[in-house]
Amino acid sequence: MKAAAFDYMRARDVAEACAALAQGNGKAKLLAGGQSLGPMLNLRLARPKLLIDVSRIQALAGIEDKADAWHIGAGVTHSRLEDAAGKLGGGAMLAHVAGGIAYRAVRNRGTIGGSLAHADPAADWPLALAALDAAVVIRGRAGSRRVAADRFMKSAFTTELAADEIVEAIIVPKLSAGARWGYHKFCRKTGEFPEASAACVLDPERRLARIYVGALTGAPQPLAGLARAAAERGLAACTREAIHEAVAAAAPQLDAIDRRMHAGVVARALQKTFQS
Ligand SMILES: Cc1cc2nc3c(=O)[nH]c(=O)nc-3n(C[C@H](O)[C@H](O)[C@H](O)COP(=O)(O)OP(=O)(O)OC[C@H]3O[C@@H](n4cnc5c(N)ncnc54)[C@H](O)[C@@H]3O)c2cc1C
Repeated sequence: MKAAAFDYMRARDVAEACAALAQGNGKAKLLAGGQSLGPMLNLRLARPKLLIDVSRIQALAGIEDKADAWHIGAGVTHSRLEDAAGKLGGGAMLAHVAGGIAYRAVRNRGTIGGSLAHADPAADWPLALAALDAAVVIRGRAGSRRVAADRFMKSAFTTELAADEIVEAIIVPKLSAGARWGYHKFCRKTGEFPEASAACVLDPERRLARIYVGALTGAPQPLAGLARAAAERGLAACTREAIHEAVAAAAPQLDAIDRRMHAGVVARALQKTFQS
């Protein structure tokens, strides 16, 4: 199927994109890498009147080292982060996660901001950025605001963004040298969205202990008690029963089989964390 007719404009900067969104009155959509929006247009699941192309806005394309955090422009592609492996001090998990998204062809065009804004429950960035305690910088006509990554996605395909707002950047605090992390996902076929996913970050120096489980029906869910136990008492505290209980409490909608799958993925993320 082909997309329904739409108008197209290329925004020169973020302000122009926000103004066009506002004028669109809910009928305009931003276009970044097109890796999610393209299929949605073709399937006519999205029928915007106007597409606002933000893929050439330089202000969205930076990966900046700000001493204690990485500031990543919303338009940075997954492959740029993947290729930054070894160069992102305190942000190695970003390159690891980026390199596991889809296929290289998708990673070459898909962007971190587009992935967050699309808010697919099985997507990698909402999960990884929640575990990393990142913040999303949102710009609208009224100015700029920051939202914690774990509050940005409200439910499946629904975010904090108002109709005239754009994701401008993501701020990812750097992990300290003693930090440990593990990321694991189960995909039936390499390159496809996962059936279950989990991210764990333990950084005693920054008092950060987070485990999130993803690929649920909505946003990634925290396993706060399990994360505390892992930080305080190590892997021995994360028994099979403790993991199952934590997953069941965080995602009561899962049936017994899905709960096992998600618990298994959390166990692997924890193992990787303590091996790192
Ligand atoms: C075959 C295939 C496999 C995939 N597998 C995975 C996977 O395993 N894991 C995973 O995480 N993802 C996967 N994806 C999705 C991929 O990561 C996309 O790149 C991503 O979801 C969307 O990014 P994009 O830049 O292409 O956004 P687009 O498709 O251009 O836009 C997506 C949505 O975000 C909005 N948007 C874009 N940029 C902004 C912005 N700056 N501010 C506000 N709104 C914005 C658009 O209006 C649109 O609603 C897969 C995609 C494909 C095609």
